Amino acid sequence: MQTRPILIVGSMAFDDLEFPVPVPDADGTARTSFVDVVGGSATYSSLAASAFAPVRVVAVVGNDFPESALDTMRSRQIDTAGIERADGLTFRWKGRYHADLVNRDTLDTQLNVFANFRPKLADGYGDSPLVLLGNIHPELQLEVLDQIRKPELVVADTMNFWITGEPKTLAKLIERTDLLIINDEEARLLSGIHNLARAAKDILSRGPKGLIIKRGEHGSLYFDKDGIFASPALLLENVVDPTGAGDSFAGGLLGYLADHGTYDHATMRRAMLHGTAAASFCVEAVGTNGIRSLEREHVRKRVERIRHLTHVGEE
Ligand code: AMP
Repeated sequence: MQTRPILIVGSMAFDDLEFPVPVPDADGTARTSFVDVVGGSATYSSLAASAFAPVRVVAVVGNDFPESALDTMRSRQIDTAGIERADGLTFRWKGRYHADLVNRDTLDTQLNVFANFRPKLADGYGDSPLVLLGNIHPELQLEVLDQIRKPELVVADTMNFWITGEPKTLAKLIERTDLLIINDEEARLLSGIHNLARAAKDILSRGPKGLIIKRGEHGSLYFDKDGIFASPALLLENVVDPTGAGDSFAGGLLGYLADHGTYDHATMRRAMLHGTAAASFCVEAVGTNGIRSLEREHVRKRVERIRHLTHVGEE
């Protein structure tokens, strides 16, 4: 069977990052702060997914966004025809990580060209079988979804900002989503229920067939009508920059699904391990450095390590 193309919509960004300890950049120099790091949800997801499947990106960048970053994407079966270059500055996000390198504060968000972005799909994108609606305004996620004729699988990501700020639009989106990917805090906020098992049940009653709850270094949970699956995270010795881990997880997961073309419970379990493995590469380097050369074989090897973590053999 042929690998299906994935349409990904999300942010493309310049990130300014601050870390509690010096971390090495691409040429090995260690620093605690980095400016103008190319990031964004669509950038991370598409780099990870392209290890497995062709990707089409719908996003907007400003005149300041480097052509070399688009060249890197194009060199990896990522179609950039759907990336609009608008007159103005690229979306910008500034974050500061806490000492645990898990929690972070958003210091600044500048929408810039994103403020007036109206996604219009490039020719042929409307037939995309797999769709990843990355974390952006739910109205924009719906606008993209409206332009896709007959998607096989609609996956959406969101964040606390939209859960509290745009609950009605988000509810419409969730109703039309096959698989929702959020973290534990967001699941609690969305459902108003602290217990994750009950929160998941509540969220599944709102429309999605499947739900993934990410728990950072503690791994992730998958819920659907056929049961629950728990994937551990890989225990890494070298965690440098967690930015984009969630997006890389979604990219790796969708890449695997696009390669298989089935979305049943058993396939989802394996896809979860591929998402986990893709995310593990992301956090080992600053920005996209850990995933921009990611190959399917690298991911496969780490999937074996994750399997081994919980393998107990027969009684
Ligand atoms: P993650 O660490 O997986 O949550 O993703 C981090 C990426 O999301 C960064 O590269 C940011 O540029 C991007 N980002 C941060 N805030 C937003 C936002 N409000 N909308 C869209 N993208 C964002």
